Amino acid sequence: MSPSDIIIASVSKNFAHARDSGDLFFFPSTVAKVEELGVEFEIRLCPALQRKPQPRTLDHETNSVAKAGFADDRERNRVDPFTPPYNANLHIGDLKDEDGTEYVVLLNKYALVPDHFLLITREFQSQSSPLMPSDLVQAYLLLVAARKSGKRYFAFYNCGDNSGASQPHKHIQFIPVEDDGPPIESLARSANLEMPDKPFYLTRLIYANHVARLPTQLSSYTSDKLEQTLSAIFLSLLDLVVSTIRHDPEYPPGRPSYNVLLSLEHMHLIPRRQDTYTLPQTGDPLSVNALGFAGMLLVKSEEEMEALKANGIGNVLRSVGLESVHDIQITETTAEAE
Ligand code: AMP
Repeated sequence: MSPSDIIIASVSKNFAHARDSGDLFFFPSTVAKVEELGVEFEIRLCPALQRKPQPRTLDHETNSVAKAGFADDRERNRVDPFTPPYNANLHIGDLKDEDGTEYVVLLNKYALVPDHFLLITREFQSQSSPLMPSDLVQAYLLLVAARKSGKRYFAFYNCGDNSGASQPHKHIQFIPVEDDGPPIESLARSANLEMPDKPFYLTRLIYANHVARLPTQLSSYTSDKLEQTLSAIFLSLLDLVVSTIRHDPEYPPGRPSYNVLLSLEHMHLIPRRQDTYTLPQTGDPLSVNALGFAGMLLVKSEEEMEALKANGIGNVLRSVGLESVHDIQITETTAEAE
């Protein structure tokens, strides 16, 4: 068994043990489905989050699951929870890439979804830095290991201050999904591509999104070829994210923020302009991270649920994302090629 296989095989047992030991907090929730833009969005309602005061994160104000969990964590602003010593019940394994980069795999201490875990760089790296070839390879290998064991996960990365991230130490997150993957994957899968090796975008969505279909045989590539392929795909999507951001004269200064979604079939990058959306009906900030763009949103009350539906999920995502400039980008690429 590979190191990724061993980690995947131990997630569920360790999750149950960590929860029973009181080292992991599991917040019960219910899920409502809403069809919009050709996507069957999932809105998760977790009333337990209401009891948590809104914390301040290191760089900005937020209110996601993770951040709600942090409100109770007195150590939040003093220590990086992703540096040793690790809680033994949360620490489920270690990985080392061929380039020598080391990773730690921790269960999410504040989980809404069972078996949610994180791949963390052992040495501190910034959550505002792009995914490195080794990050992509290790994340992908975990997804492959899950599939081999009959499970399906997807990975997501919230990059930058306006992406919905709450921790500054580089971490890629994994949650289990049903066979079809996260809701957005059905739309990506249904795209009929003339050039399957070129980035594309999901035209039904009303916000900028950049997607690439992964080669079907990717899991059987040699490790060098796997690394090259994932890196080239990531960089081509990142170029498009930066180009989309450059077309927005009001984009906040600083490093670009974006969300990454990775399944065994697609990689998606979604540029972000802001972390939260203020629901006019409630005045509450709704934090949106990569999960929102995967089609999975989170609310704390029925009132927020209704407000989100009334505003339209697409409009909320458009507000925290960017306008698509795909048509301009196509023209520019064509002009460059001439
Ligand atoms: P993000 O908010 O996207 O930066 O993700 C941070 C993740 O880390 C969230 O899923 C948190 O619930 C989780 N988390 C926070 N503190 C800890 C901790 N001490 N151990 C494990 N996971 C944590």
